[in-house]
Amino acid sequence: MSGALPVLVHPPFADPTQPYVSLPTLKGWLGAKGIAVRVLDLNVRAAHHLFDEAALAGWVKRLGERLATLDRATSLSAEEAHELTVLAGARRAAELCLAMDPSPLEVLRSERFYDPQQYEWARQRSDAVFELLSAVAFPFRYGWNHVTHHTVPWSFELLASYCTEHRSPLAAFYRAAVRALPAHTPFVGVSVAFPSQLPEALALVQVVREELPGAFTALGGPAIHQVVVHYDAQQRARILERVDAIGLYEGEALLERLLPMLVAGRRELGTVPNLLAMGPAGPVLGPRWTLLPKDSPAPDYDDLDLDSYLAPSRTLLYAPTRGCYWGRCSFCYYGLAETSTAAYREVPPDVAATQLRALTERHGARHVYLSCDVLSPSYAVRLATALVEQGVELTWSSDLKIERFFTDERCTLLYRSGLRAAAFGIESGSDRILTLIDKGCDRATLTAVNRRVHAAGIATEWMAFTDHPDETVDEALETIEWVAEEQGAIDLFIVGQFGLERGSLIAQHPERYGVAEVRYAQGDDLRLYAQYVPISAPRTPEETARIDSVLAAVSARYSLRPYPWAGANSTHHTLLWVLRRGQGALRRDAQGLLPLPRAPSVPGLPRRLRRDPGALAERVEGFRRRYLARALYTTLPGAPQLLELSYTDYLGAVALEPALD
Ligand code: SF4
Repeated sequence: MSGALPVLVHPPFADPTQPYVSLPTLKGWLGAKGIAVRVLDLNVRAAHHLFDEAALAGWVKRLGERLATLDRATSLSAEEAHELTVLAGARRAAELCLAMDPSPLEVLRSERFYDPQQYEWARQRSDAVFELLSAVAFPFRYGWNHVTHHTVPWSFELLASYCTEHRSPLAAFYRAAVRALPAHTPFVGVSVAFPSQLPEALALVQVVREELPGAFTALGGPAIHQVVVHYDAQQRARILERVDAIGLYEGEALLERLLPMLVAGRRELGTVPNLLAMGPAGPVLGPRWTLLPKDSPAPDYDDLDLDSYLAPSRTLLYAPTRGCYWGRCSFCYYGLAETSTAAYREVPPDVAATQLRALTERHGARHVYLSCDVLSPSYAVRLATALVEQGVELTWSSDLKIERFFTDERCTLLYRSGLRAAAFGIESGSDRILTLIDKGCDRATLTAVNRRVHAAGIATEWMAFTDHPDETVDEALETIEWVAEEQGAIDLFIVGQFGLERGSLIAQHPERYGVAEVRYAQGDDLRLYAQYVPISAPRTPEETARIDSVLAAVSARYSLRPYPWAGANSTHHTLLWVLRRGQGALRRDAQGLLPLPRAPSVPGLPRRLRRDPGALAERVEGFRRRYLARALYTTLPGAPQLLELSYTDYLGAVALEPALD
């Protein structure tokens, strides 16, 4: 192909500490077929933009001006009152944002990263930036792993408003990035690997359509796949109003066929594998295609600046397998499949070891995260053998499923091959729930094998959750108390709360799992928040509080932090801390934290307000509680089927609230 290259974009918001694997994988495949593309990581560029002094000063100024305007107003609508409370609450964050010395970028990309106090400061300053962003972009909220409206889920209408009215705080950043592309760029494909990227991906596509009207735009990746694969024709047509096409399933053959076609000026889109696009009579999906990874070239990271990520050393992601060899867990819906997990496939271990050696040598990277649904025990051992036999020197981490297969000898081999951290889906400490989940492993085996892995010198990270349908309070406590009992062999853990995933076995056969009904609120057009009606009585607030307090006591023994920080499972930062300080790196920090710096006084940022934000916040919270109770919590059997939570409905409810003088 000649002229401007097709562009593949990784959009905000996602983990900025390491490059994601999907687009380099596609570039590697296309390069082997003689098709050149350019990979652009706008997520990490956005991270630098967020910590840029001029950008921060601009947002602080906006915050001050808007706050002063609302405070001076003679009367406020309910939504304006809410905005005032958010702006007023973000003043401290705004001041901290202007006192970023050293900048989080400096701390996270230098030896200071390993100082617990400086690390925690960097994290808190990152939080402050997102609080500021969420205030100036009210009513939306932002973090590295979420972009949401403060109350309602993403509907088609809310997405349309977000995009066409350029409500993203990164809209100007996107426009500058798109204007830097060649005018005749034929294709801009935006990857949506995580739900938090979807609103920004569509906001970016809107800017591409305005600035490069000749470019063909497409979305692809697991998060958009999992939304669109379940849509009916009408819903598919709605999302295709915002983008020319959507790639479902795997994208290698799709791009191999589509890109030369676009350059040649042809648009026989119905023949493109896995491509969903509008045809004359409605959305048309091209023929289904599935990758055989044994034929795959290595990912190509050449377009990415590996030193720009928010970490002191380079890491690479590599996917040696696709799908899950087990694929039976009740709650699981993962990857590019209609339901459950995708079919399991492997890169031959000797090929993977050779590719890993070439990649780490080419990019001067010592650390690799093996990114896959779950690494099968047998494959992990075969890959470890190949790495040792080929003398590949690296450290690696991955998600594995505990099986008896992991003997002492095999655990030692895994350590020798460079495995330093393994995340295990432990799920529950109750054998009854493990059987209901169909985990294929009982508590005694999970305990014994985990101890073996830990004894081999590998940091163990547990992933468990409470509130599986039909779980009793005692069973929830069993899980948490099990973590406490085994803490000597657990280096990090998360006990989350069950969330029902569309496509999981529970969603397909709710009656088998103690679920009477699965519902979605009107307006939850991305279907990210399944509501379900349990057959048994739901937990009381007292029972939930008891579980939370036991969990808090166990959590206090560790330095747990949210994604993507050190202290969250399977993150790059966690691996780096483990490599530096050993398996116990995420135990509670011995040193206390230093106080945050005194906030400077920021000119133009109102300190005293005419209105009382605390009193306003109480009224706002009262309204939100009433609104959500009407919309969401009427899910008990026999209760009215009222699950209206659309943006229009919300605005209607807000409009009925009396104005505040
Ligand atoms: S939870 Fe893990 S082991 Fe179970 S089906 Fe999903 S990916 Fe496979």
